[in-house]
Amino acid sequence: MKRREFVKSAGIGLAAGAIASPAIAQSAPEVKWRLTSSFPKSLDTIYGAAETFAKAVAEATDNKFQVQVFAAGEIVPGLQASDAVTNGTVEACHTASYYYVGKDPTFAFGTAVPFGLNSRQQNAWMYHAGGIDLMNEFYKKHSIYALPGGNTGCQMGGWFRKEIKTVEDLKGLKMRIGGFAGQVLAKLGAVPQQIAGGDIYPALEKGTIDAAEWVGPYDDEKLGFNKVAPVYHYPGWWEGGAMLHFFINDKKFAELPKTYQSIVRTAAALANVDMQAKYDAKNPEALKRLVGGGAQLRPFPQEVMEACLKASNELYEETAAKNADFKKIYDAMRPLRNDQYLWFQVAEYTYDNFLIRARAANRL
Ligand code: CA
Repeated sequence: MKRREFVKSAGIGLAAGAIASPAIAQSAPEVKWRLTSSFPKSLDTIYGAAETFAKAVAEATDNKFQVQVFAAGEIVPGLQASDAVTNGTVEACHTASYYYVGKDPTFAFGTAVPFGLNSRQQNAWMYHAGGIDLMNEFYKKHSIYALPGGNTGCQMGGWFRKEIKTVEDLKGLKMRIGGFAGQVLAKLGAVPQQIAGGDIYPALEKGTIDAAEWVGPYDDEKLGFNKVAPVYHYPGWWEGGAMLHFFINDKKFAELPKTYQSIVRTAAALANVDMQAKYDAKNPEALKRLVGGGAQLRPFPQEVMEACLKASNELYEETAAKNADFKKIYDAMRPLRNDQYLWFQVAEYTYDNFLIRARAANRL
């Protein structure tokens, strides 16, 4: 007998309702979380993903579960967001996993690794090929439960004062570039620098550095790099599909009712899709403005790409030899990447390639 019928036939509706209500209240408690972003509000695409997440959570719970979003620096600096989650200062953060390669290079796989997966493939891995579980086995060591929360798509190679024409041109090149990719370039003689977003422009202007990579046209335009380093190389082979994450304190996540856990997963997935859609919508106009303003678009030469791939493969082998977590995830990602490109070269690449040529020939 269904509960409602039982209640009706037993004639104890009121009493049963009174008993049942605490259980209902418990499944939708008032919850307030603080989420620290690793990004400033000025980067509306990337910072906006945390706001998208918070809004979706609030709407799905009739505002009972509220996530307050703080910009980088309001609670902790952007690059300390994961520590704030690990030690419980905040319940969650929105960040790039690879910011923490200094703790462990395995963090790189959450975001992007040199010549790694593109954004579609990263999603395929995370959602349908065990990526989320595999990464969370690792993140658990840091008391983190992580969910994909955005993607920039393939990034640009960045802004250079002088064009890179040969591998030789990388020797002595002082470039602002993060963690793991910096180590690849160092193998080819470059001098990688870690510089926070706001400090890149003055360093490039003064000539303290020769080149800097950031994200892509929409974000780069705001920082004004084209005025001081006109050569805009592509692609950013170290970030073929840079994925952002929501890092959540694992105990705080476990304390949530199952319905709220489900809502958190759904809201994160929404933010994951929405952020890349926004970048893809905004980048073309920004690229046109940058080129109109004098930016010189240049692909990295094939020999430079090949040398960087070779150096990356060496770094993978060296790192895997001394880090079991890194090896486990690299060994999972590598065959997946091969299969993905086997598939992508057929329909997707042929379709895109045809339309790219058709557009260039004014046939669209
Ligand atoms: Ca970048």
